[in-house]
Amino acid sequence: MDAYDALPKVELHCHVEGAVRPSTVVELARKNGRSLPTDDPTELYRYDSLNSFLDIFWLVQSLIADRDDWERVGYESIVDAAPHGLRYREMFFTPARHLAEGQSLGAIVDGLTLGVEHAERETGVRCALICDIDRAFGPSAGLELVEQLVSLRRSGGAEAVIGLGMDSTERGVDPRDFAPAFDVAGRGGLKLTSHAGEDTGADNIATALDALSISRIDHGLAIMDDFSLVERVREARIPLDVCPNSNVLIANKYERLEDHPFRRMRQAGLLATLNTDDPAMTDLDLGKEYRSVAAALGMSWDEMCEVSLDGVEASWLDEGEKRRVRGAFEAAIAEIEPPEVAASA
Ligand SMILES: [Zn+2]
Repeated sequence: MDAYDALPKVELHCHVEGAVRPSTVVELARKNGRSLPTDDPTELYRYDSLNSFLDIFWLVQSLIADRDDWERVGYESIVDAAPHGLRYREMFFTPARHLAEGQSLGAIVDGLTLGVEHAERETGVRCALICDIDRAFGPSAGLELVEQLVSLRRSGGAEAVIGLGMDSTERGVDPRDFAPAFDVAGRGGLKLTSHAGEDTGADNIATALDALSISRIDHGLAIMDDFSLVERVREARIPLDVCPNSNVLIANKYERLEDHPFRRMRQAGLLATLNTDDPAMTDLDLGKEYRSVAAALGMSWDEMCEVSLDGVEASWLDEGEKRRVRGAFEAAIAEIEPPEVAASA
């Protein structure tokens, strides 16, 4: 087995809707009576711009039509990641579009939970869920979602959902507008994170930290433009779940992986981890993410092992579980034959 696949990993930034196999997209479209721009699954996930990516992301979201579909995509997302070293994931789902079309949050969470539990039994990977607010649907839809989620959890209906996040379009949206939703979620016992500084400046990260009380930052690239914010986030050990290949392929922030600040973020002392974001849509897996970043940024095997172990610290597992998982990771790493030289970029 390739060392980068064998390396045990935590993943904290992966959208289940971005992990749907092309062949499943075709089958879901057929099942739900929807037409696709192409019948060739390999042609689906090709983009020439962020907008063409979002068109496909929304198309795939719209094909997940009932509880069985959620179960299927939840199951496949874990089964596909397991051979590439995934051991524990906290996975996003973004139900705004589905709720607006009349699906129930209970059915969505039930389906995902069933699928994930099935995959956990088969692979030994563990997975918790993070419910994301879609910023594009506005603050009141966000608040309504959180109120539903918190009451579902109170009635024991959403045990697998441990956190609240927020994603989708960042420009022109003030994070402060979502403070009431994050407040209800926090008081309801959910952990809090948000996409920030992916497509906007460092001030958006600071605002999310201050106004939404998040304990983790999704992407957070813009932090490198603000030295005092780097100091603050480093001191507080606030994790950043970074997705370098996605930032090149989807957000078009950098022309080449070689230009990505991931290594500089870590050298600045930040707790920055590696993640795939939307693996099926960008032909990625965690092994490939680690391998390509190591090669492009010249990171040694030891550095990559540190990234893997930092994933445990950055997770929302409790301290006892973190110690156990870290011990298991260290034992697994000791068994891996390191790659002789970093592959060339
Ligand atoms: Zn994302």
